[in-house]
Amino acid sequence: MLDLVDFRLVVEPGAAAMAARDATLEQRQKLLDTVKSEANDTVQHSLQFHRELGVATNNGFMRTILTALHAVLEWQTKPQILSDYDQAESGAAHLAIAKAVSAGHATKAERLMREHLEQFRQVLEREGRLDDPIVPRPDADSAIQMPSSAWY
Ligand SMILES: [Zn+2]
Repeated sequence: MLDLVDFRLVVEPGAAAMAARDATLEQRQKLLDTVKSEANDTVQHSLQFHRELGVATNNGFMRTILTALHAVLEWQTKPQILSDYDQAESGAAHLAIAKAVSAGHATKAERLMREHLEQFRQVLEREGRLDDPIVPRPDADSAIQMPSSAWY
C-alpha cells in the first residue's frame, strides 16, 4: 500500500499541473461538475474525480497509468476508510484542486494535489494500513469487489 500511495504522490501532482495547462474547456467544466456533485459521496464518486483529472491531462500515458492506478485503489481500499476521509477533508480538497485546474493555475493545482495525497497517506498511516499488501489476500474483506468497468 505504501508503494501505491508514494507512487500517487509522485505522479498525481504532476498530472494536476498537466491538466491545468492542457485540459479542454469541457474537461475543466466536467471536473468542477464532478466535484460539486460529490455531496452524496461514495468511494467510486471520489475516485471519479481523480480519474477525470487523469483524462484531462490529454496525455495518453498519464491517462492509462492513472486509470489503472485508481482501479487498483478502488479495488483494495476499504470503503469505510475512504468515506471517513472524504467527509473530513476530501470534498474540500477536490473542489480547491478543480478550481485551480479550471483556472489554469498549474503550480497551485500541483501543490494542492500533493497536500491532498499527503493527508490521505496520513489517514492510511493512522489506520495502520500502509504495510497492507496491494493485492488482497483471499480472506480479505468480502466487501471489496473488483470494479467491472475500470479495466479498460
Ligand atoms: Zn481525492
